[in-house]
Amino acid sequence: MKRRNILKQIAIRKPVDVSPDKSLCEIWAIDVFDLAKMRSALPKQIVRSLEKTFEIGVPLEKGMADEIATAMRNWAISHGAKYYSHVFQPLTGATAEKHDGFIAINREGEVLTEFSSKQLIQGEPDASSFPNGGIRSTFEARGYTAWDVTSPAYIMETANGKTLCIPTVFVSWTGEALDKKTPLLRSNMAINRSANRILKLFGNSDASISTSAGPEQEYFLIDSAFATARPDLLLAGRTLFGRPGAKGQEFGDHYLGAIPERVQLFMNDVAEKFYRLGIPAKTHHNEAAPAQFELAPLYENSNISSDHQQLTMTILKSTAKKHGFLCLLHEKPFNGVNGSGKHVNWSVRSSTLGNLLDPGDTPHANMQFLLFCAAVIRGVHKYGHLLRTVVASAGNDHRLGQNEAPPSIISIYMGAQLTDVFEQIRTGSKDTKSCAPTAESGFMNLGVDSLPPLPKDPGDRNRTSPFAFTGNRFEFRAVGASQSISDSLVAINTIAADSLDFIADKLEAYISEGKKLEEACSNVLKEIIENHSAVIFNGNNYSKEWLKEAESRGLRNLKTSAEALPVLKEQEIISLFESQKTMSPVELAARFEISAEQYIKTIDVEAKLVLEIAKTKILPSVIAYLAEQVKCFDSLSKFSLSRSNINYVAEYLKELQNATAKLQKDFSVGHSGNLEEQLKFYSQTILADMDAVRAAADALEGEVSDEYWPLPSYMEMLFVR
Ligand code: ADP
Ligand code: MG
Repeated sequence: MKRRNILKQIAIRKPVDVSPDKSLCEIWAIDVFDLAKMRSALPKQIVRSLEKTFEIGVPLEKGMADEIATAMRNWAISHGAKYYSHVFQPLTGATAEKHDGFIAINREGEVLTEFSSKQLIQGEPDASSFPNGGIRSTFEARGYTAWDVTSPAYIMETANGKTLCIPTVFVSWTGEALDKKTPLLRSNMAINRSANRILKLFGNSDASISTSAGPEQEYFLIDSAFATARPDLLLAGRTLFGRPGAKGQEFGDHYLGAIPERVQLFMNDVAEKFYRLGIPAKTHHNEAAPAQFELAPLYENSNISSDHQQLTMTILKSTAKKHGFLCLLHEKPFNGVNGSGKHVNWSVRSSTLGNLLDPGDTPHANMQFLLFCAAVIRGVHKYGHLLRTVVASAGNDHRLGQNEAPPSIISIYMGAQLTDVFEQIRTGSKDTKSCAPTAESGFMNLGVDSLPPLPKDPGDRNRTSPFAFTGNRFEFRAVGASQSISDSLVAINTIAADSLDFIADKLEAYISEGKKLEEACSNVLKEIIENHSAVIFNGNNYSKEWLKEAESRGLRNLKTSAEALPVLKEQEIISLFESQKTMSPVELAARFEISAEQYIKTIDVEAKLVLEIAKTKILPSVIAYLAEQVKCFDSLSKFSLSRSNINYVAEYLKELQNATAKLQKDFSVGHSGNLEEQLKFYSQTILADMDAVRAAADALEGEVSDEYWPLPSYMEMLFVR
């Protein structure tokens, strides 16, 4: 569609008003087969067993699945569902599902509905097209889905009707995880095991410990009509061409500004869908860039949160379509304005003690709190490069380190006060300037000589830090907007579990030597801070000085995904996952392969698009424009006008031709080396070639008549709706 027609179409668009009229209480979790619904549909004994499974993660007792399956089917059918589906998260990071009908026909030819415990518990999707990084071909086994009892089933309504969706893991016959959920469940078990070792020393046994997550999601909304003239947005999710407009986000007038009406209706619709599915969406606001928005839910158990996050992305995209929008979850859809990330807030929760990252009221609780913080500090110091790697993707590379998102160097922000507390522990001194234990300053005195008082408040927030302590949780800010949060949660859980084990080993050893718990804790804290405080950085992570400083502190700076992904092959990382039983070496190797392939394929598609758009849209338009201008100037020769502007056009046109030819050549020659070499080739040669084509084309966009320019402009896409 021509640009003009697109604008006309947008001008006559009618807002889609869904006007939900039901109250929050009426619709909350109405489409979820949650505990409340199970309570009314199942015998007490089964409900009790399910409650135990939800709360402390013990396996469901045998022989209960039949009745649960029947109750689930009856509930789903009474809500109009005709199909059921095992939903899983393959290693692409997307959500996959295969729909089966409840329908069955008996001998008399009558229609029945059928759904057995076997169908609830296990499925066998034809999964041959999901990437498995060599796992399935190695083991010659098929992929199976298996019911995750701890994540409730729900009904999803689409144009296709209503489907009962059952959250499942996806594993090979030999038990290798082919998905993102299995390692997450395992990593929660690792935290439960290791954290309990510490709590036990504090006299708290029998608690069940899990992790919580609250992911903030950023996204762009543009009118979907633009996509018809923008193959790059449609297929790559980002603009591969486009000159940043005269106005971007420099006025800061979009952030938290009034939300446009069409967008409000969209958000209303989205919220309605979230609430029906029991997704506790809490905040919604404009973000920094024009056409950019953010939403955040209340935090939940990290497994549920991750399932809900996948649903969130699906719902954002499908609801956008209904409202005539294209929802872009890409990390950098537009140059020159901020990209989109996902802040993953994370904490550790005990079923009896609550949030273990909350400074407590007693010396005992605070010592525990400091140990858990220290575990994270040690983990991030030892394995910061792993955190960099789990957020590596072609899309996120455009955002990390671009003065809008944390750099590729992973450090921790602890806030001045807590840093001071740790400093006091390290030096053994009780008084430093910023941390005097006065009544007004809100410090809690531990009442223990060897430990200083603790701040109740985290103090200032540092938005530039990739991993920030924000009072009662850590916030991992390097995650990309389109990424599944599972990989990040698995990595954080695993490195934390590893450090908690380290701490538990030490404490147990000190105690067996006859030391008191308090002294043992103090010794361990001191040791951790001495060895790992290099990862604490409270300053500006966007500054050039930090790059130097981080290097001198020995922190790794893996600038691109091509550099970061091979970390998954390092022995230290393989041992970490193996010792915590979150991923086997085979599973990890598969993840390296799949992530590397995805990176390469993404750039491969982008390169093809760059060539196609340059050759079939931009070059012909520029040539036609130039030819016409030359004619015009020739006809006006008696005025001896300056031809400088068409000379510019001719110069940039030559550049565009040369750059396109170079990309074409490098791309068709390709690279036949191993995955690491191909990663390098795509990240260095192909991306640089693409940038050169774009630079010439974007320069031309500023010279060629708007009438001739074939692609919707940044101004149109970001400001017209
Ligand atoms: P901000 O933009 O200031 O970071 P938001 O309110 O947008 O704050 O998002 C904060 C996120 O952190 C929410 O999803 C919230 O539920 C989550 N959160 C709050 N407390 C915890 C916690 N203890 N553990 C995990 N997540 C938490
Ligand atoms: Mg945040």
